[in-house]
Amino acid sequence: MNILTGGINKVMNEYKNTNFDIIVIGCGIAGLSAAVSAQQNGSKVAILERAPREERGGNTRYTESFWRMKNEDEVSEDFEDQFAKNSGGWPDPGILEDLVRDRENQPAVLKSLGIVDPSLIATLAAEAPNALKWLKEFGVKFDFLPLYFLSQSTTRMGPIGGGLALVDALGSYADSNADDITFFYETAAKKLISDDDGNLIGVSGISKGNKKINLFAPNVVLASGGFEGNSEMLSHYVGPQAQFIRPVSRGGHYNRGEGIQMALEAGAASCGDFSSFHAQPVDPRSKDMEPVVLNYSYGLLINETGRRFTDEAPALVDSTYEAVTRIIMQQKNGIGFAVFDNKLDDIDNWNATVRTRVAPYQANTLEELASLIKIPSEEFLRTVNDFNKACPENQGDFDPLKQDGLKTHGLALQKSNWSRPLTEAPFRAWPIICSNCFTFGGIKIDERARVINTEGDVIPGLYAAGEVAGIYYRTYTGATSVMRGAVTGRLAGNDASLRRNS
Ligand SMILES: Cc1cc2nc3c(=O)[nH]c(=O)nc-3n(C[C@H](O)[C@H](O)[C@H](O)COP(=O)(O)OP(=O)(O)OC[C@H]3O[C@@H](n4cnc5c(N)ncnc54)[C@H](O)[C@@H]3O)c2cc1C
Repeated sequence: MNILTGGINKVMNEYKNTNFDIIVIGCGIAGLSAAVSAQQNGSKVAILERAPREERGGNTRYTESFWRMKNEDEVSEDFEDQFAKNSGGWPDPGILEDLVRDRENQPAVLKSLGIVDPSLIATLAAEAPNALKWLKEFGVKFDFLPLYFLSQSTTRMGPIGGGLALVDALGSYADSNADDITFFYETAAKKLISDDDGNLIGVSGISKGNKKINLFAPNVVLASGGFEGNSEMLSHYVGPQAQFIRPVSRGGHYNRGEGIQMALEAGAASCGDFSSFHAQPVDPRSKDMEPVVLNYSYGLLINETGRRFTDEAPALVDSTYEAVTRIIMQQKNGIGFAVFDNKLDDIDNWNATVRTRVAPYQANTLEELASLIKIPSEEFLRTVNDFNKACPENQGDFDPLKQDGLKTHGLALQKSNWSRPLTEAPFRAWPIICSNCFTFGGIKIDERARVINTEGDVIPGLYAAGEVAGIYYRTYTGATSVMRGAVTGRLAGNDASLRRNS
């Protein structure tokens, strides 16, 4: 546990006598769910939020917030299978075999292991419908809403109004219960405070004007998001390519990893893939929130050297874009171009797959297009001509809504679906870079959102919710991060309140 030197006796400011039961750090879906459920259980709550009030809500504020649900009562059919498939790595089966024991009887080496705990995923699946119904009590409505994929490999629902509707609904409830829930805006938590016996007793932070603030409570919920807004941590964990990555929305800039660092300093076990993050392909020229470019599977992806570098269409784009985006990140200057001919317009509603409002580069010849996007035209033309010659002769079966099997023949780097030659002017190109929706590395928690230490034991009073709690490895199981925040936030708020009442 991180102990402020000099201890509690020296900690002096106007809030020192304030009697909170729970301090929540961050007010996205995880923090608000924790704070509101704790208040509903009779607790007095302080919320520290780095952003000003009008920007509260972190990533949650900007997300469309799809939930991987079959309907309001069930998660998608593939929910637990996808988590298992995306658990990553090759964990030691000799250690994993003890997962069949109940948690109390598992060895410490397993309890603290950085793996996606199946019982936590089962809790997520079981609690997601309850969290959804709870959110509806605050006036949020869920439905099957249109999104930026023309067809999908799973089922998704979302709140009407997106994540902002969630922040507004829970935030308004918190505002109207100001006797029990106190917000500290423009205040960033920095350290946990412990007493001389190592018990968690509060949080130290910095508020506007570099003023130090200390708040006291026996329970702390870390809900401050990942480290997508911290370039130093990104360089450290993700590597040199981090220089080409930016948060996909404004909210991500507020998430600088302090919650994760505080927990690690307090002895928490880590979980989730620290070297990875949810990658999204965006137009670098755009100021829009989440300016994705997801039409590329119908065209070609070409890098600055004029070459293709990946199969653009291995399967439906909703299940493959993350892997493709990571490969874009590895290209020269971290950029690729999605290139099309006029046949893009044959595809009904393709505009839905492009959220940047900046117009593509457009030209009447491929040479002109190469010059506009500053790619050596000889190499660019060779790449397009080689591709055109490798396209299947029979174009009759082109179907943008399913894997149509129209694959190239004879290329070392195949395109597996939707291969049609680029021959008809005008030609268009969108630049694409890899953006960071949120980071995967975080803290190990149990089914009550309690933080587990490196020895496999619970750290009393310390909880982690949302992005702070790492559960993803390698590939993001799509449309599960907001629900993770809602579920783990509620678990934390409820459990911390029980602790208070016991
Ligand atoms: C554009 C976009 C689209 C997305 N689409 C989806 C989707 O469809 N489905 C899905 O499931 N997920 C989606 N996601 C991901 C999802 O929105 C987030 O992972 C989730 O909302 C995170 O919730 P959170 O509460 O953990 O963090 P956040 O919502 O990011 O909240 C963290 C809060 O902590 C505050 N904070 C940070 N550090 C500190 C500190 N030191 N002290 C005090 N406060 C601090 C921040 O200001 C912020 O308010 C999307 C994200 C984005 C940006």
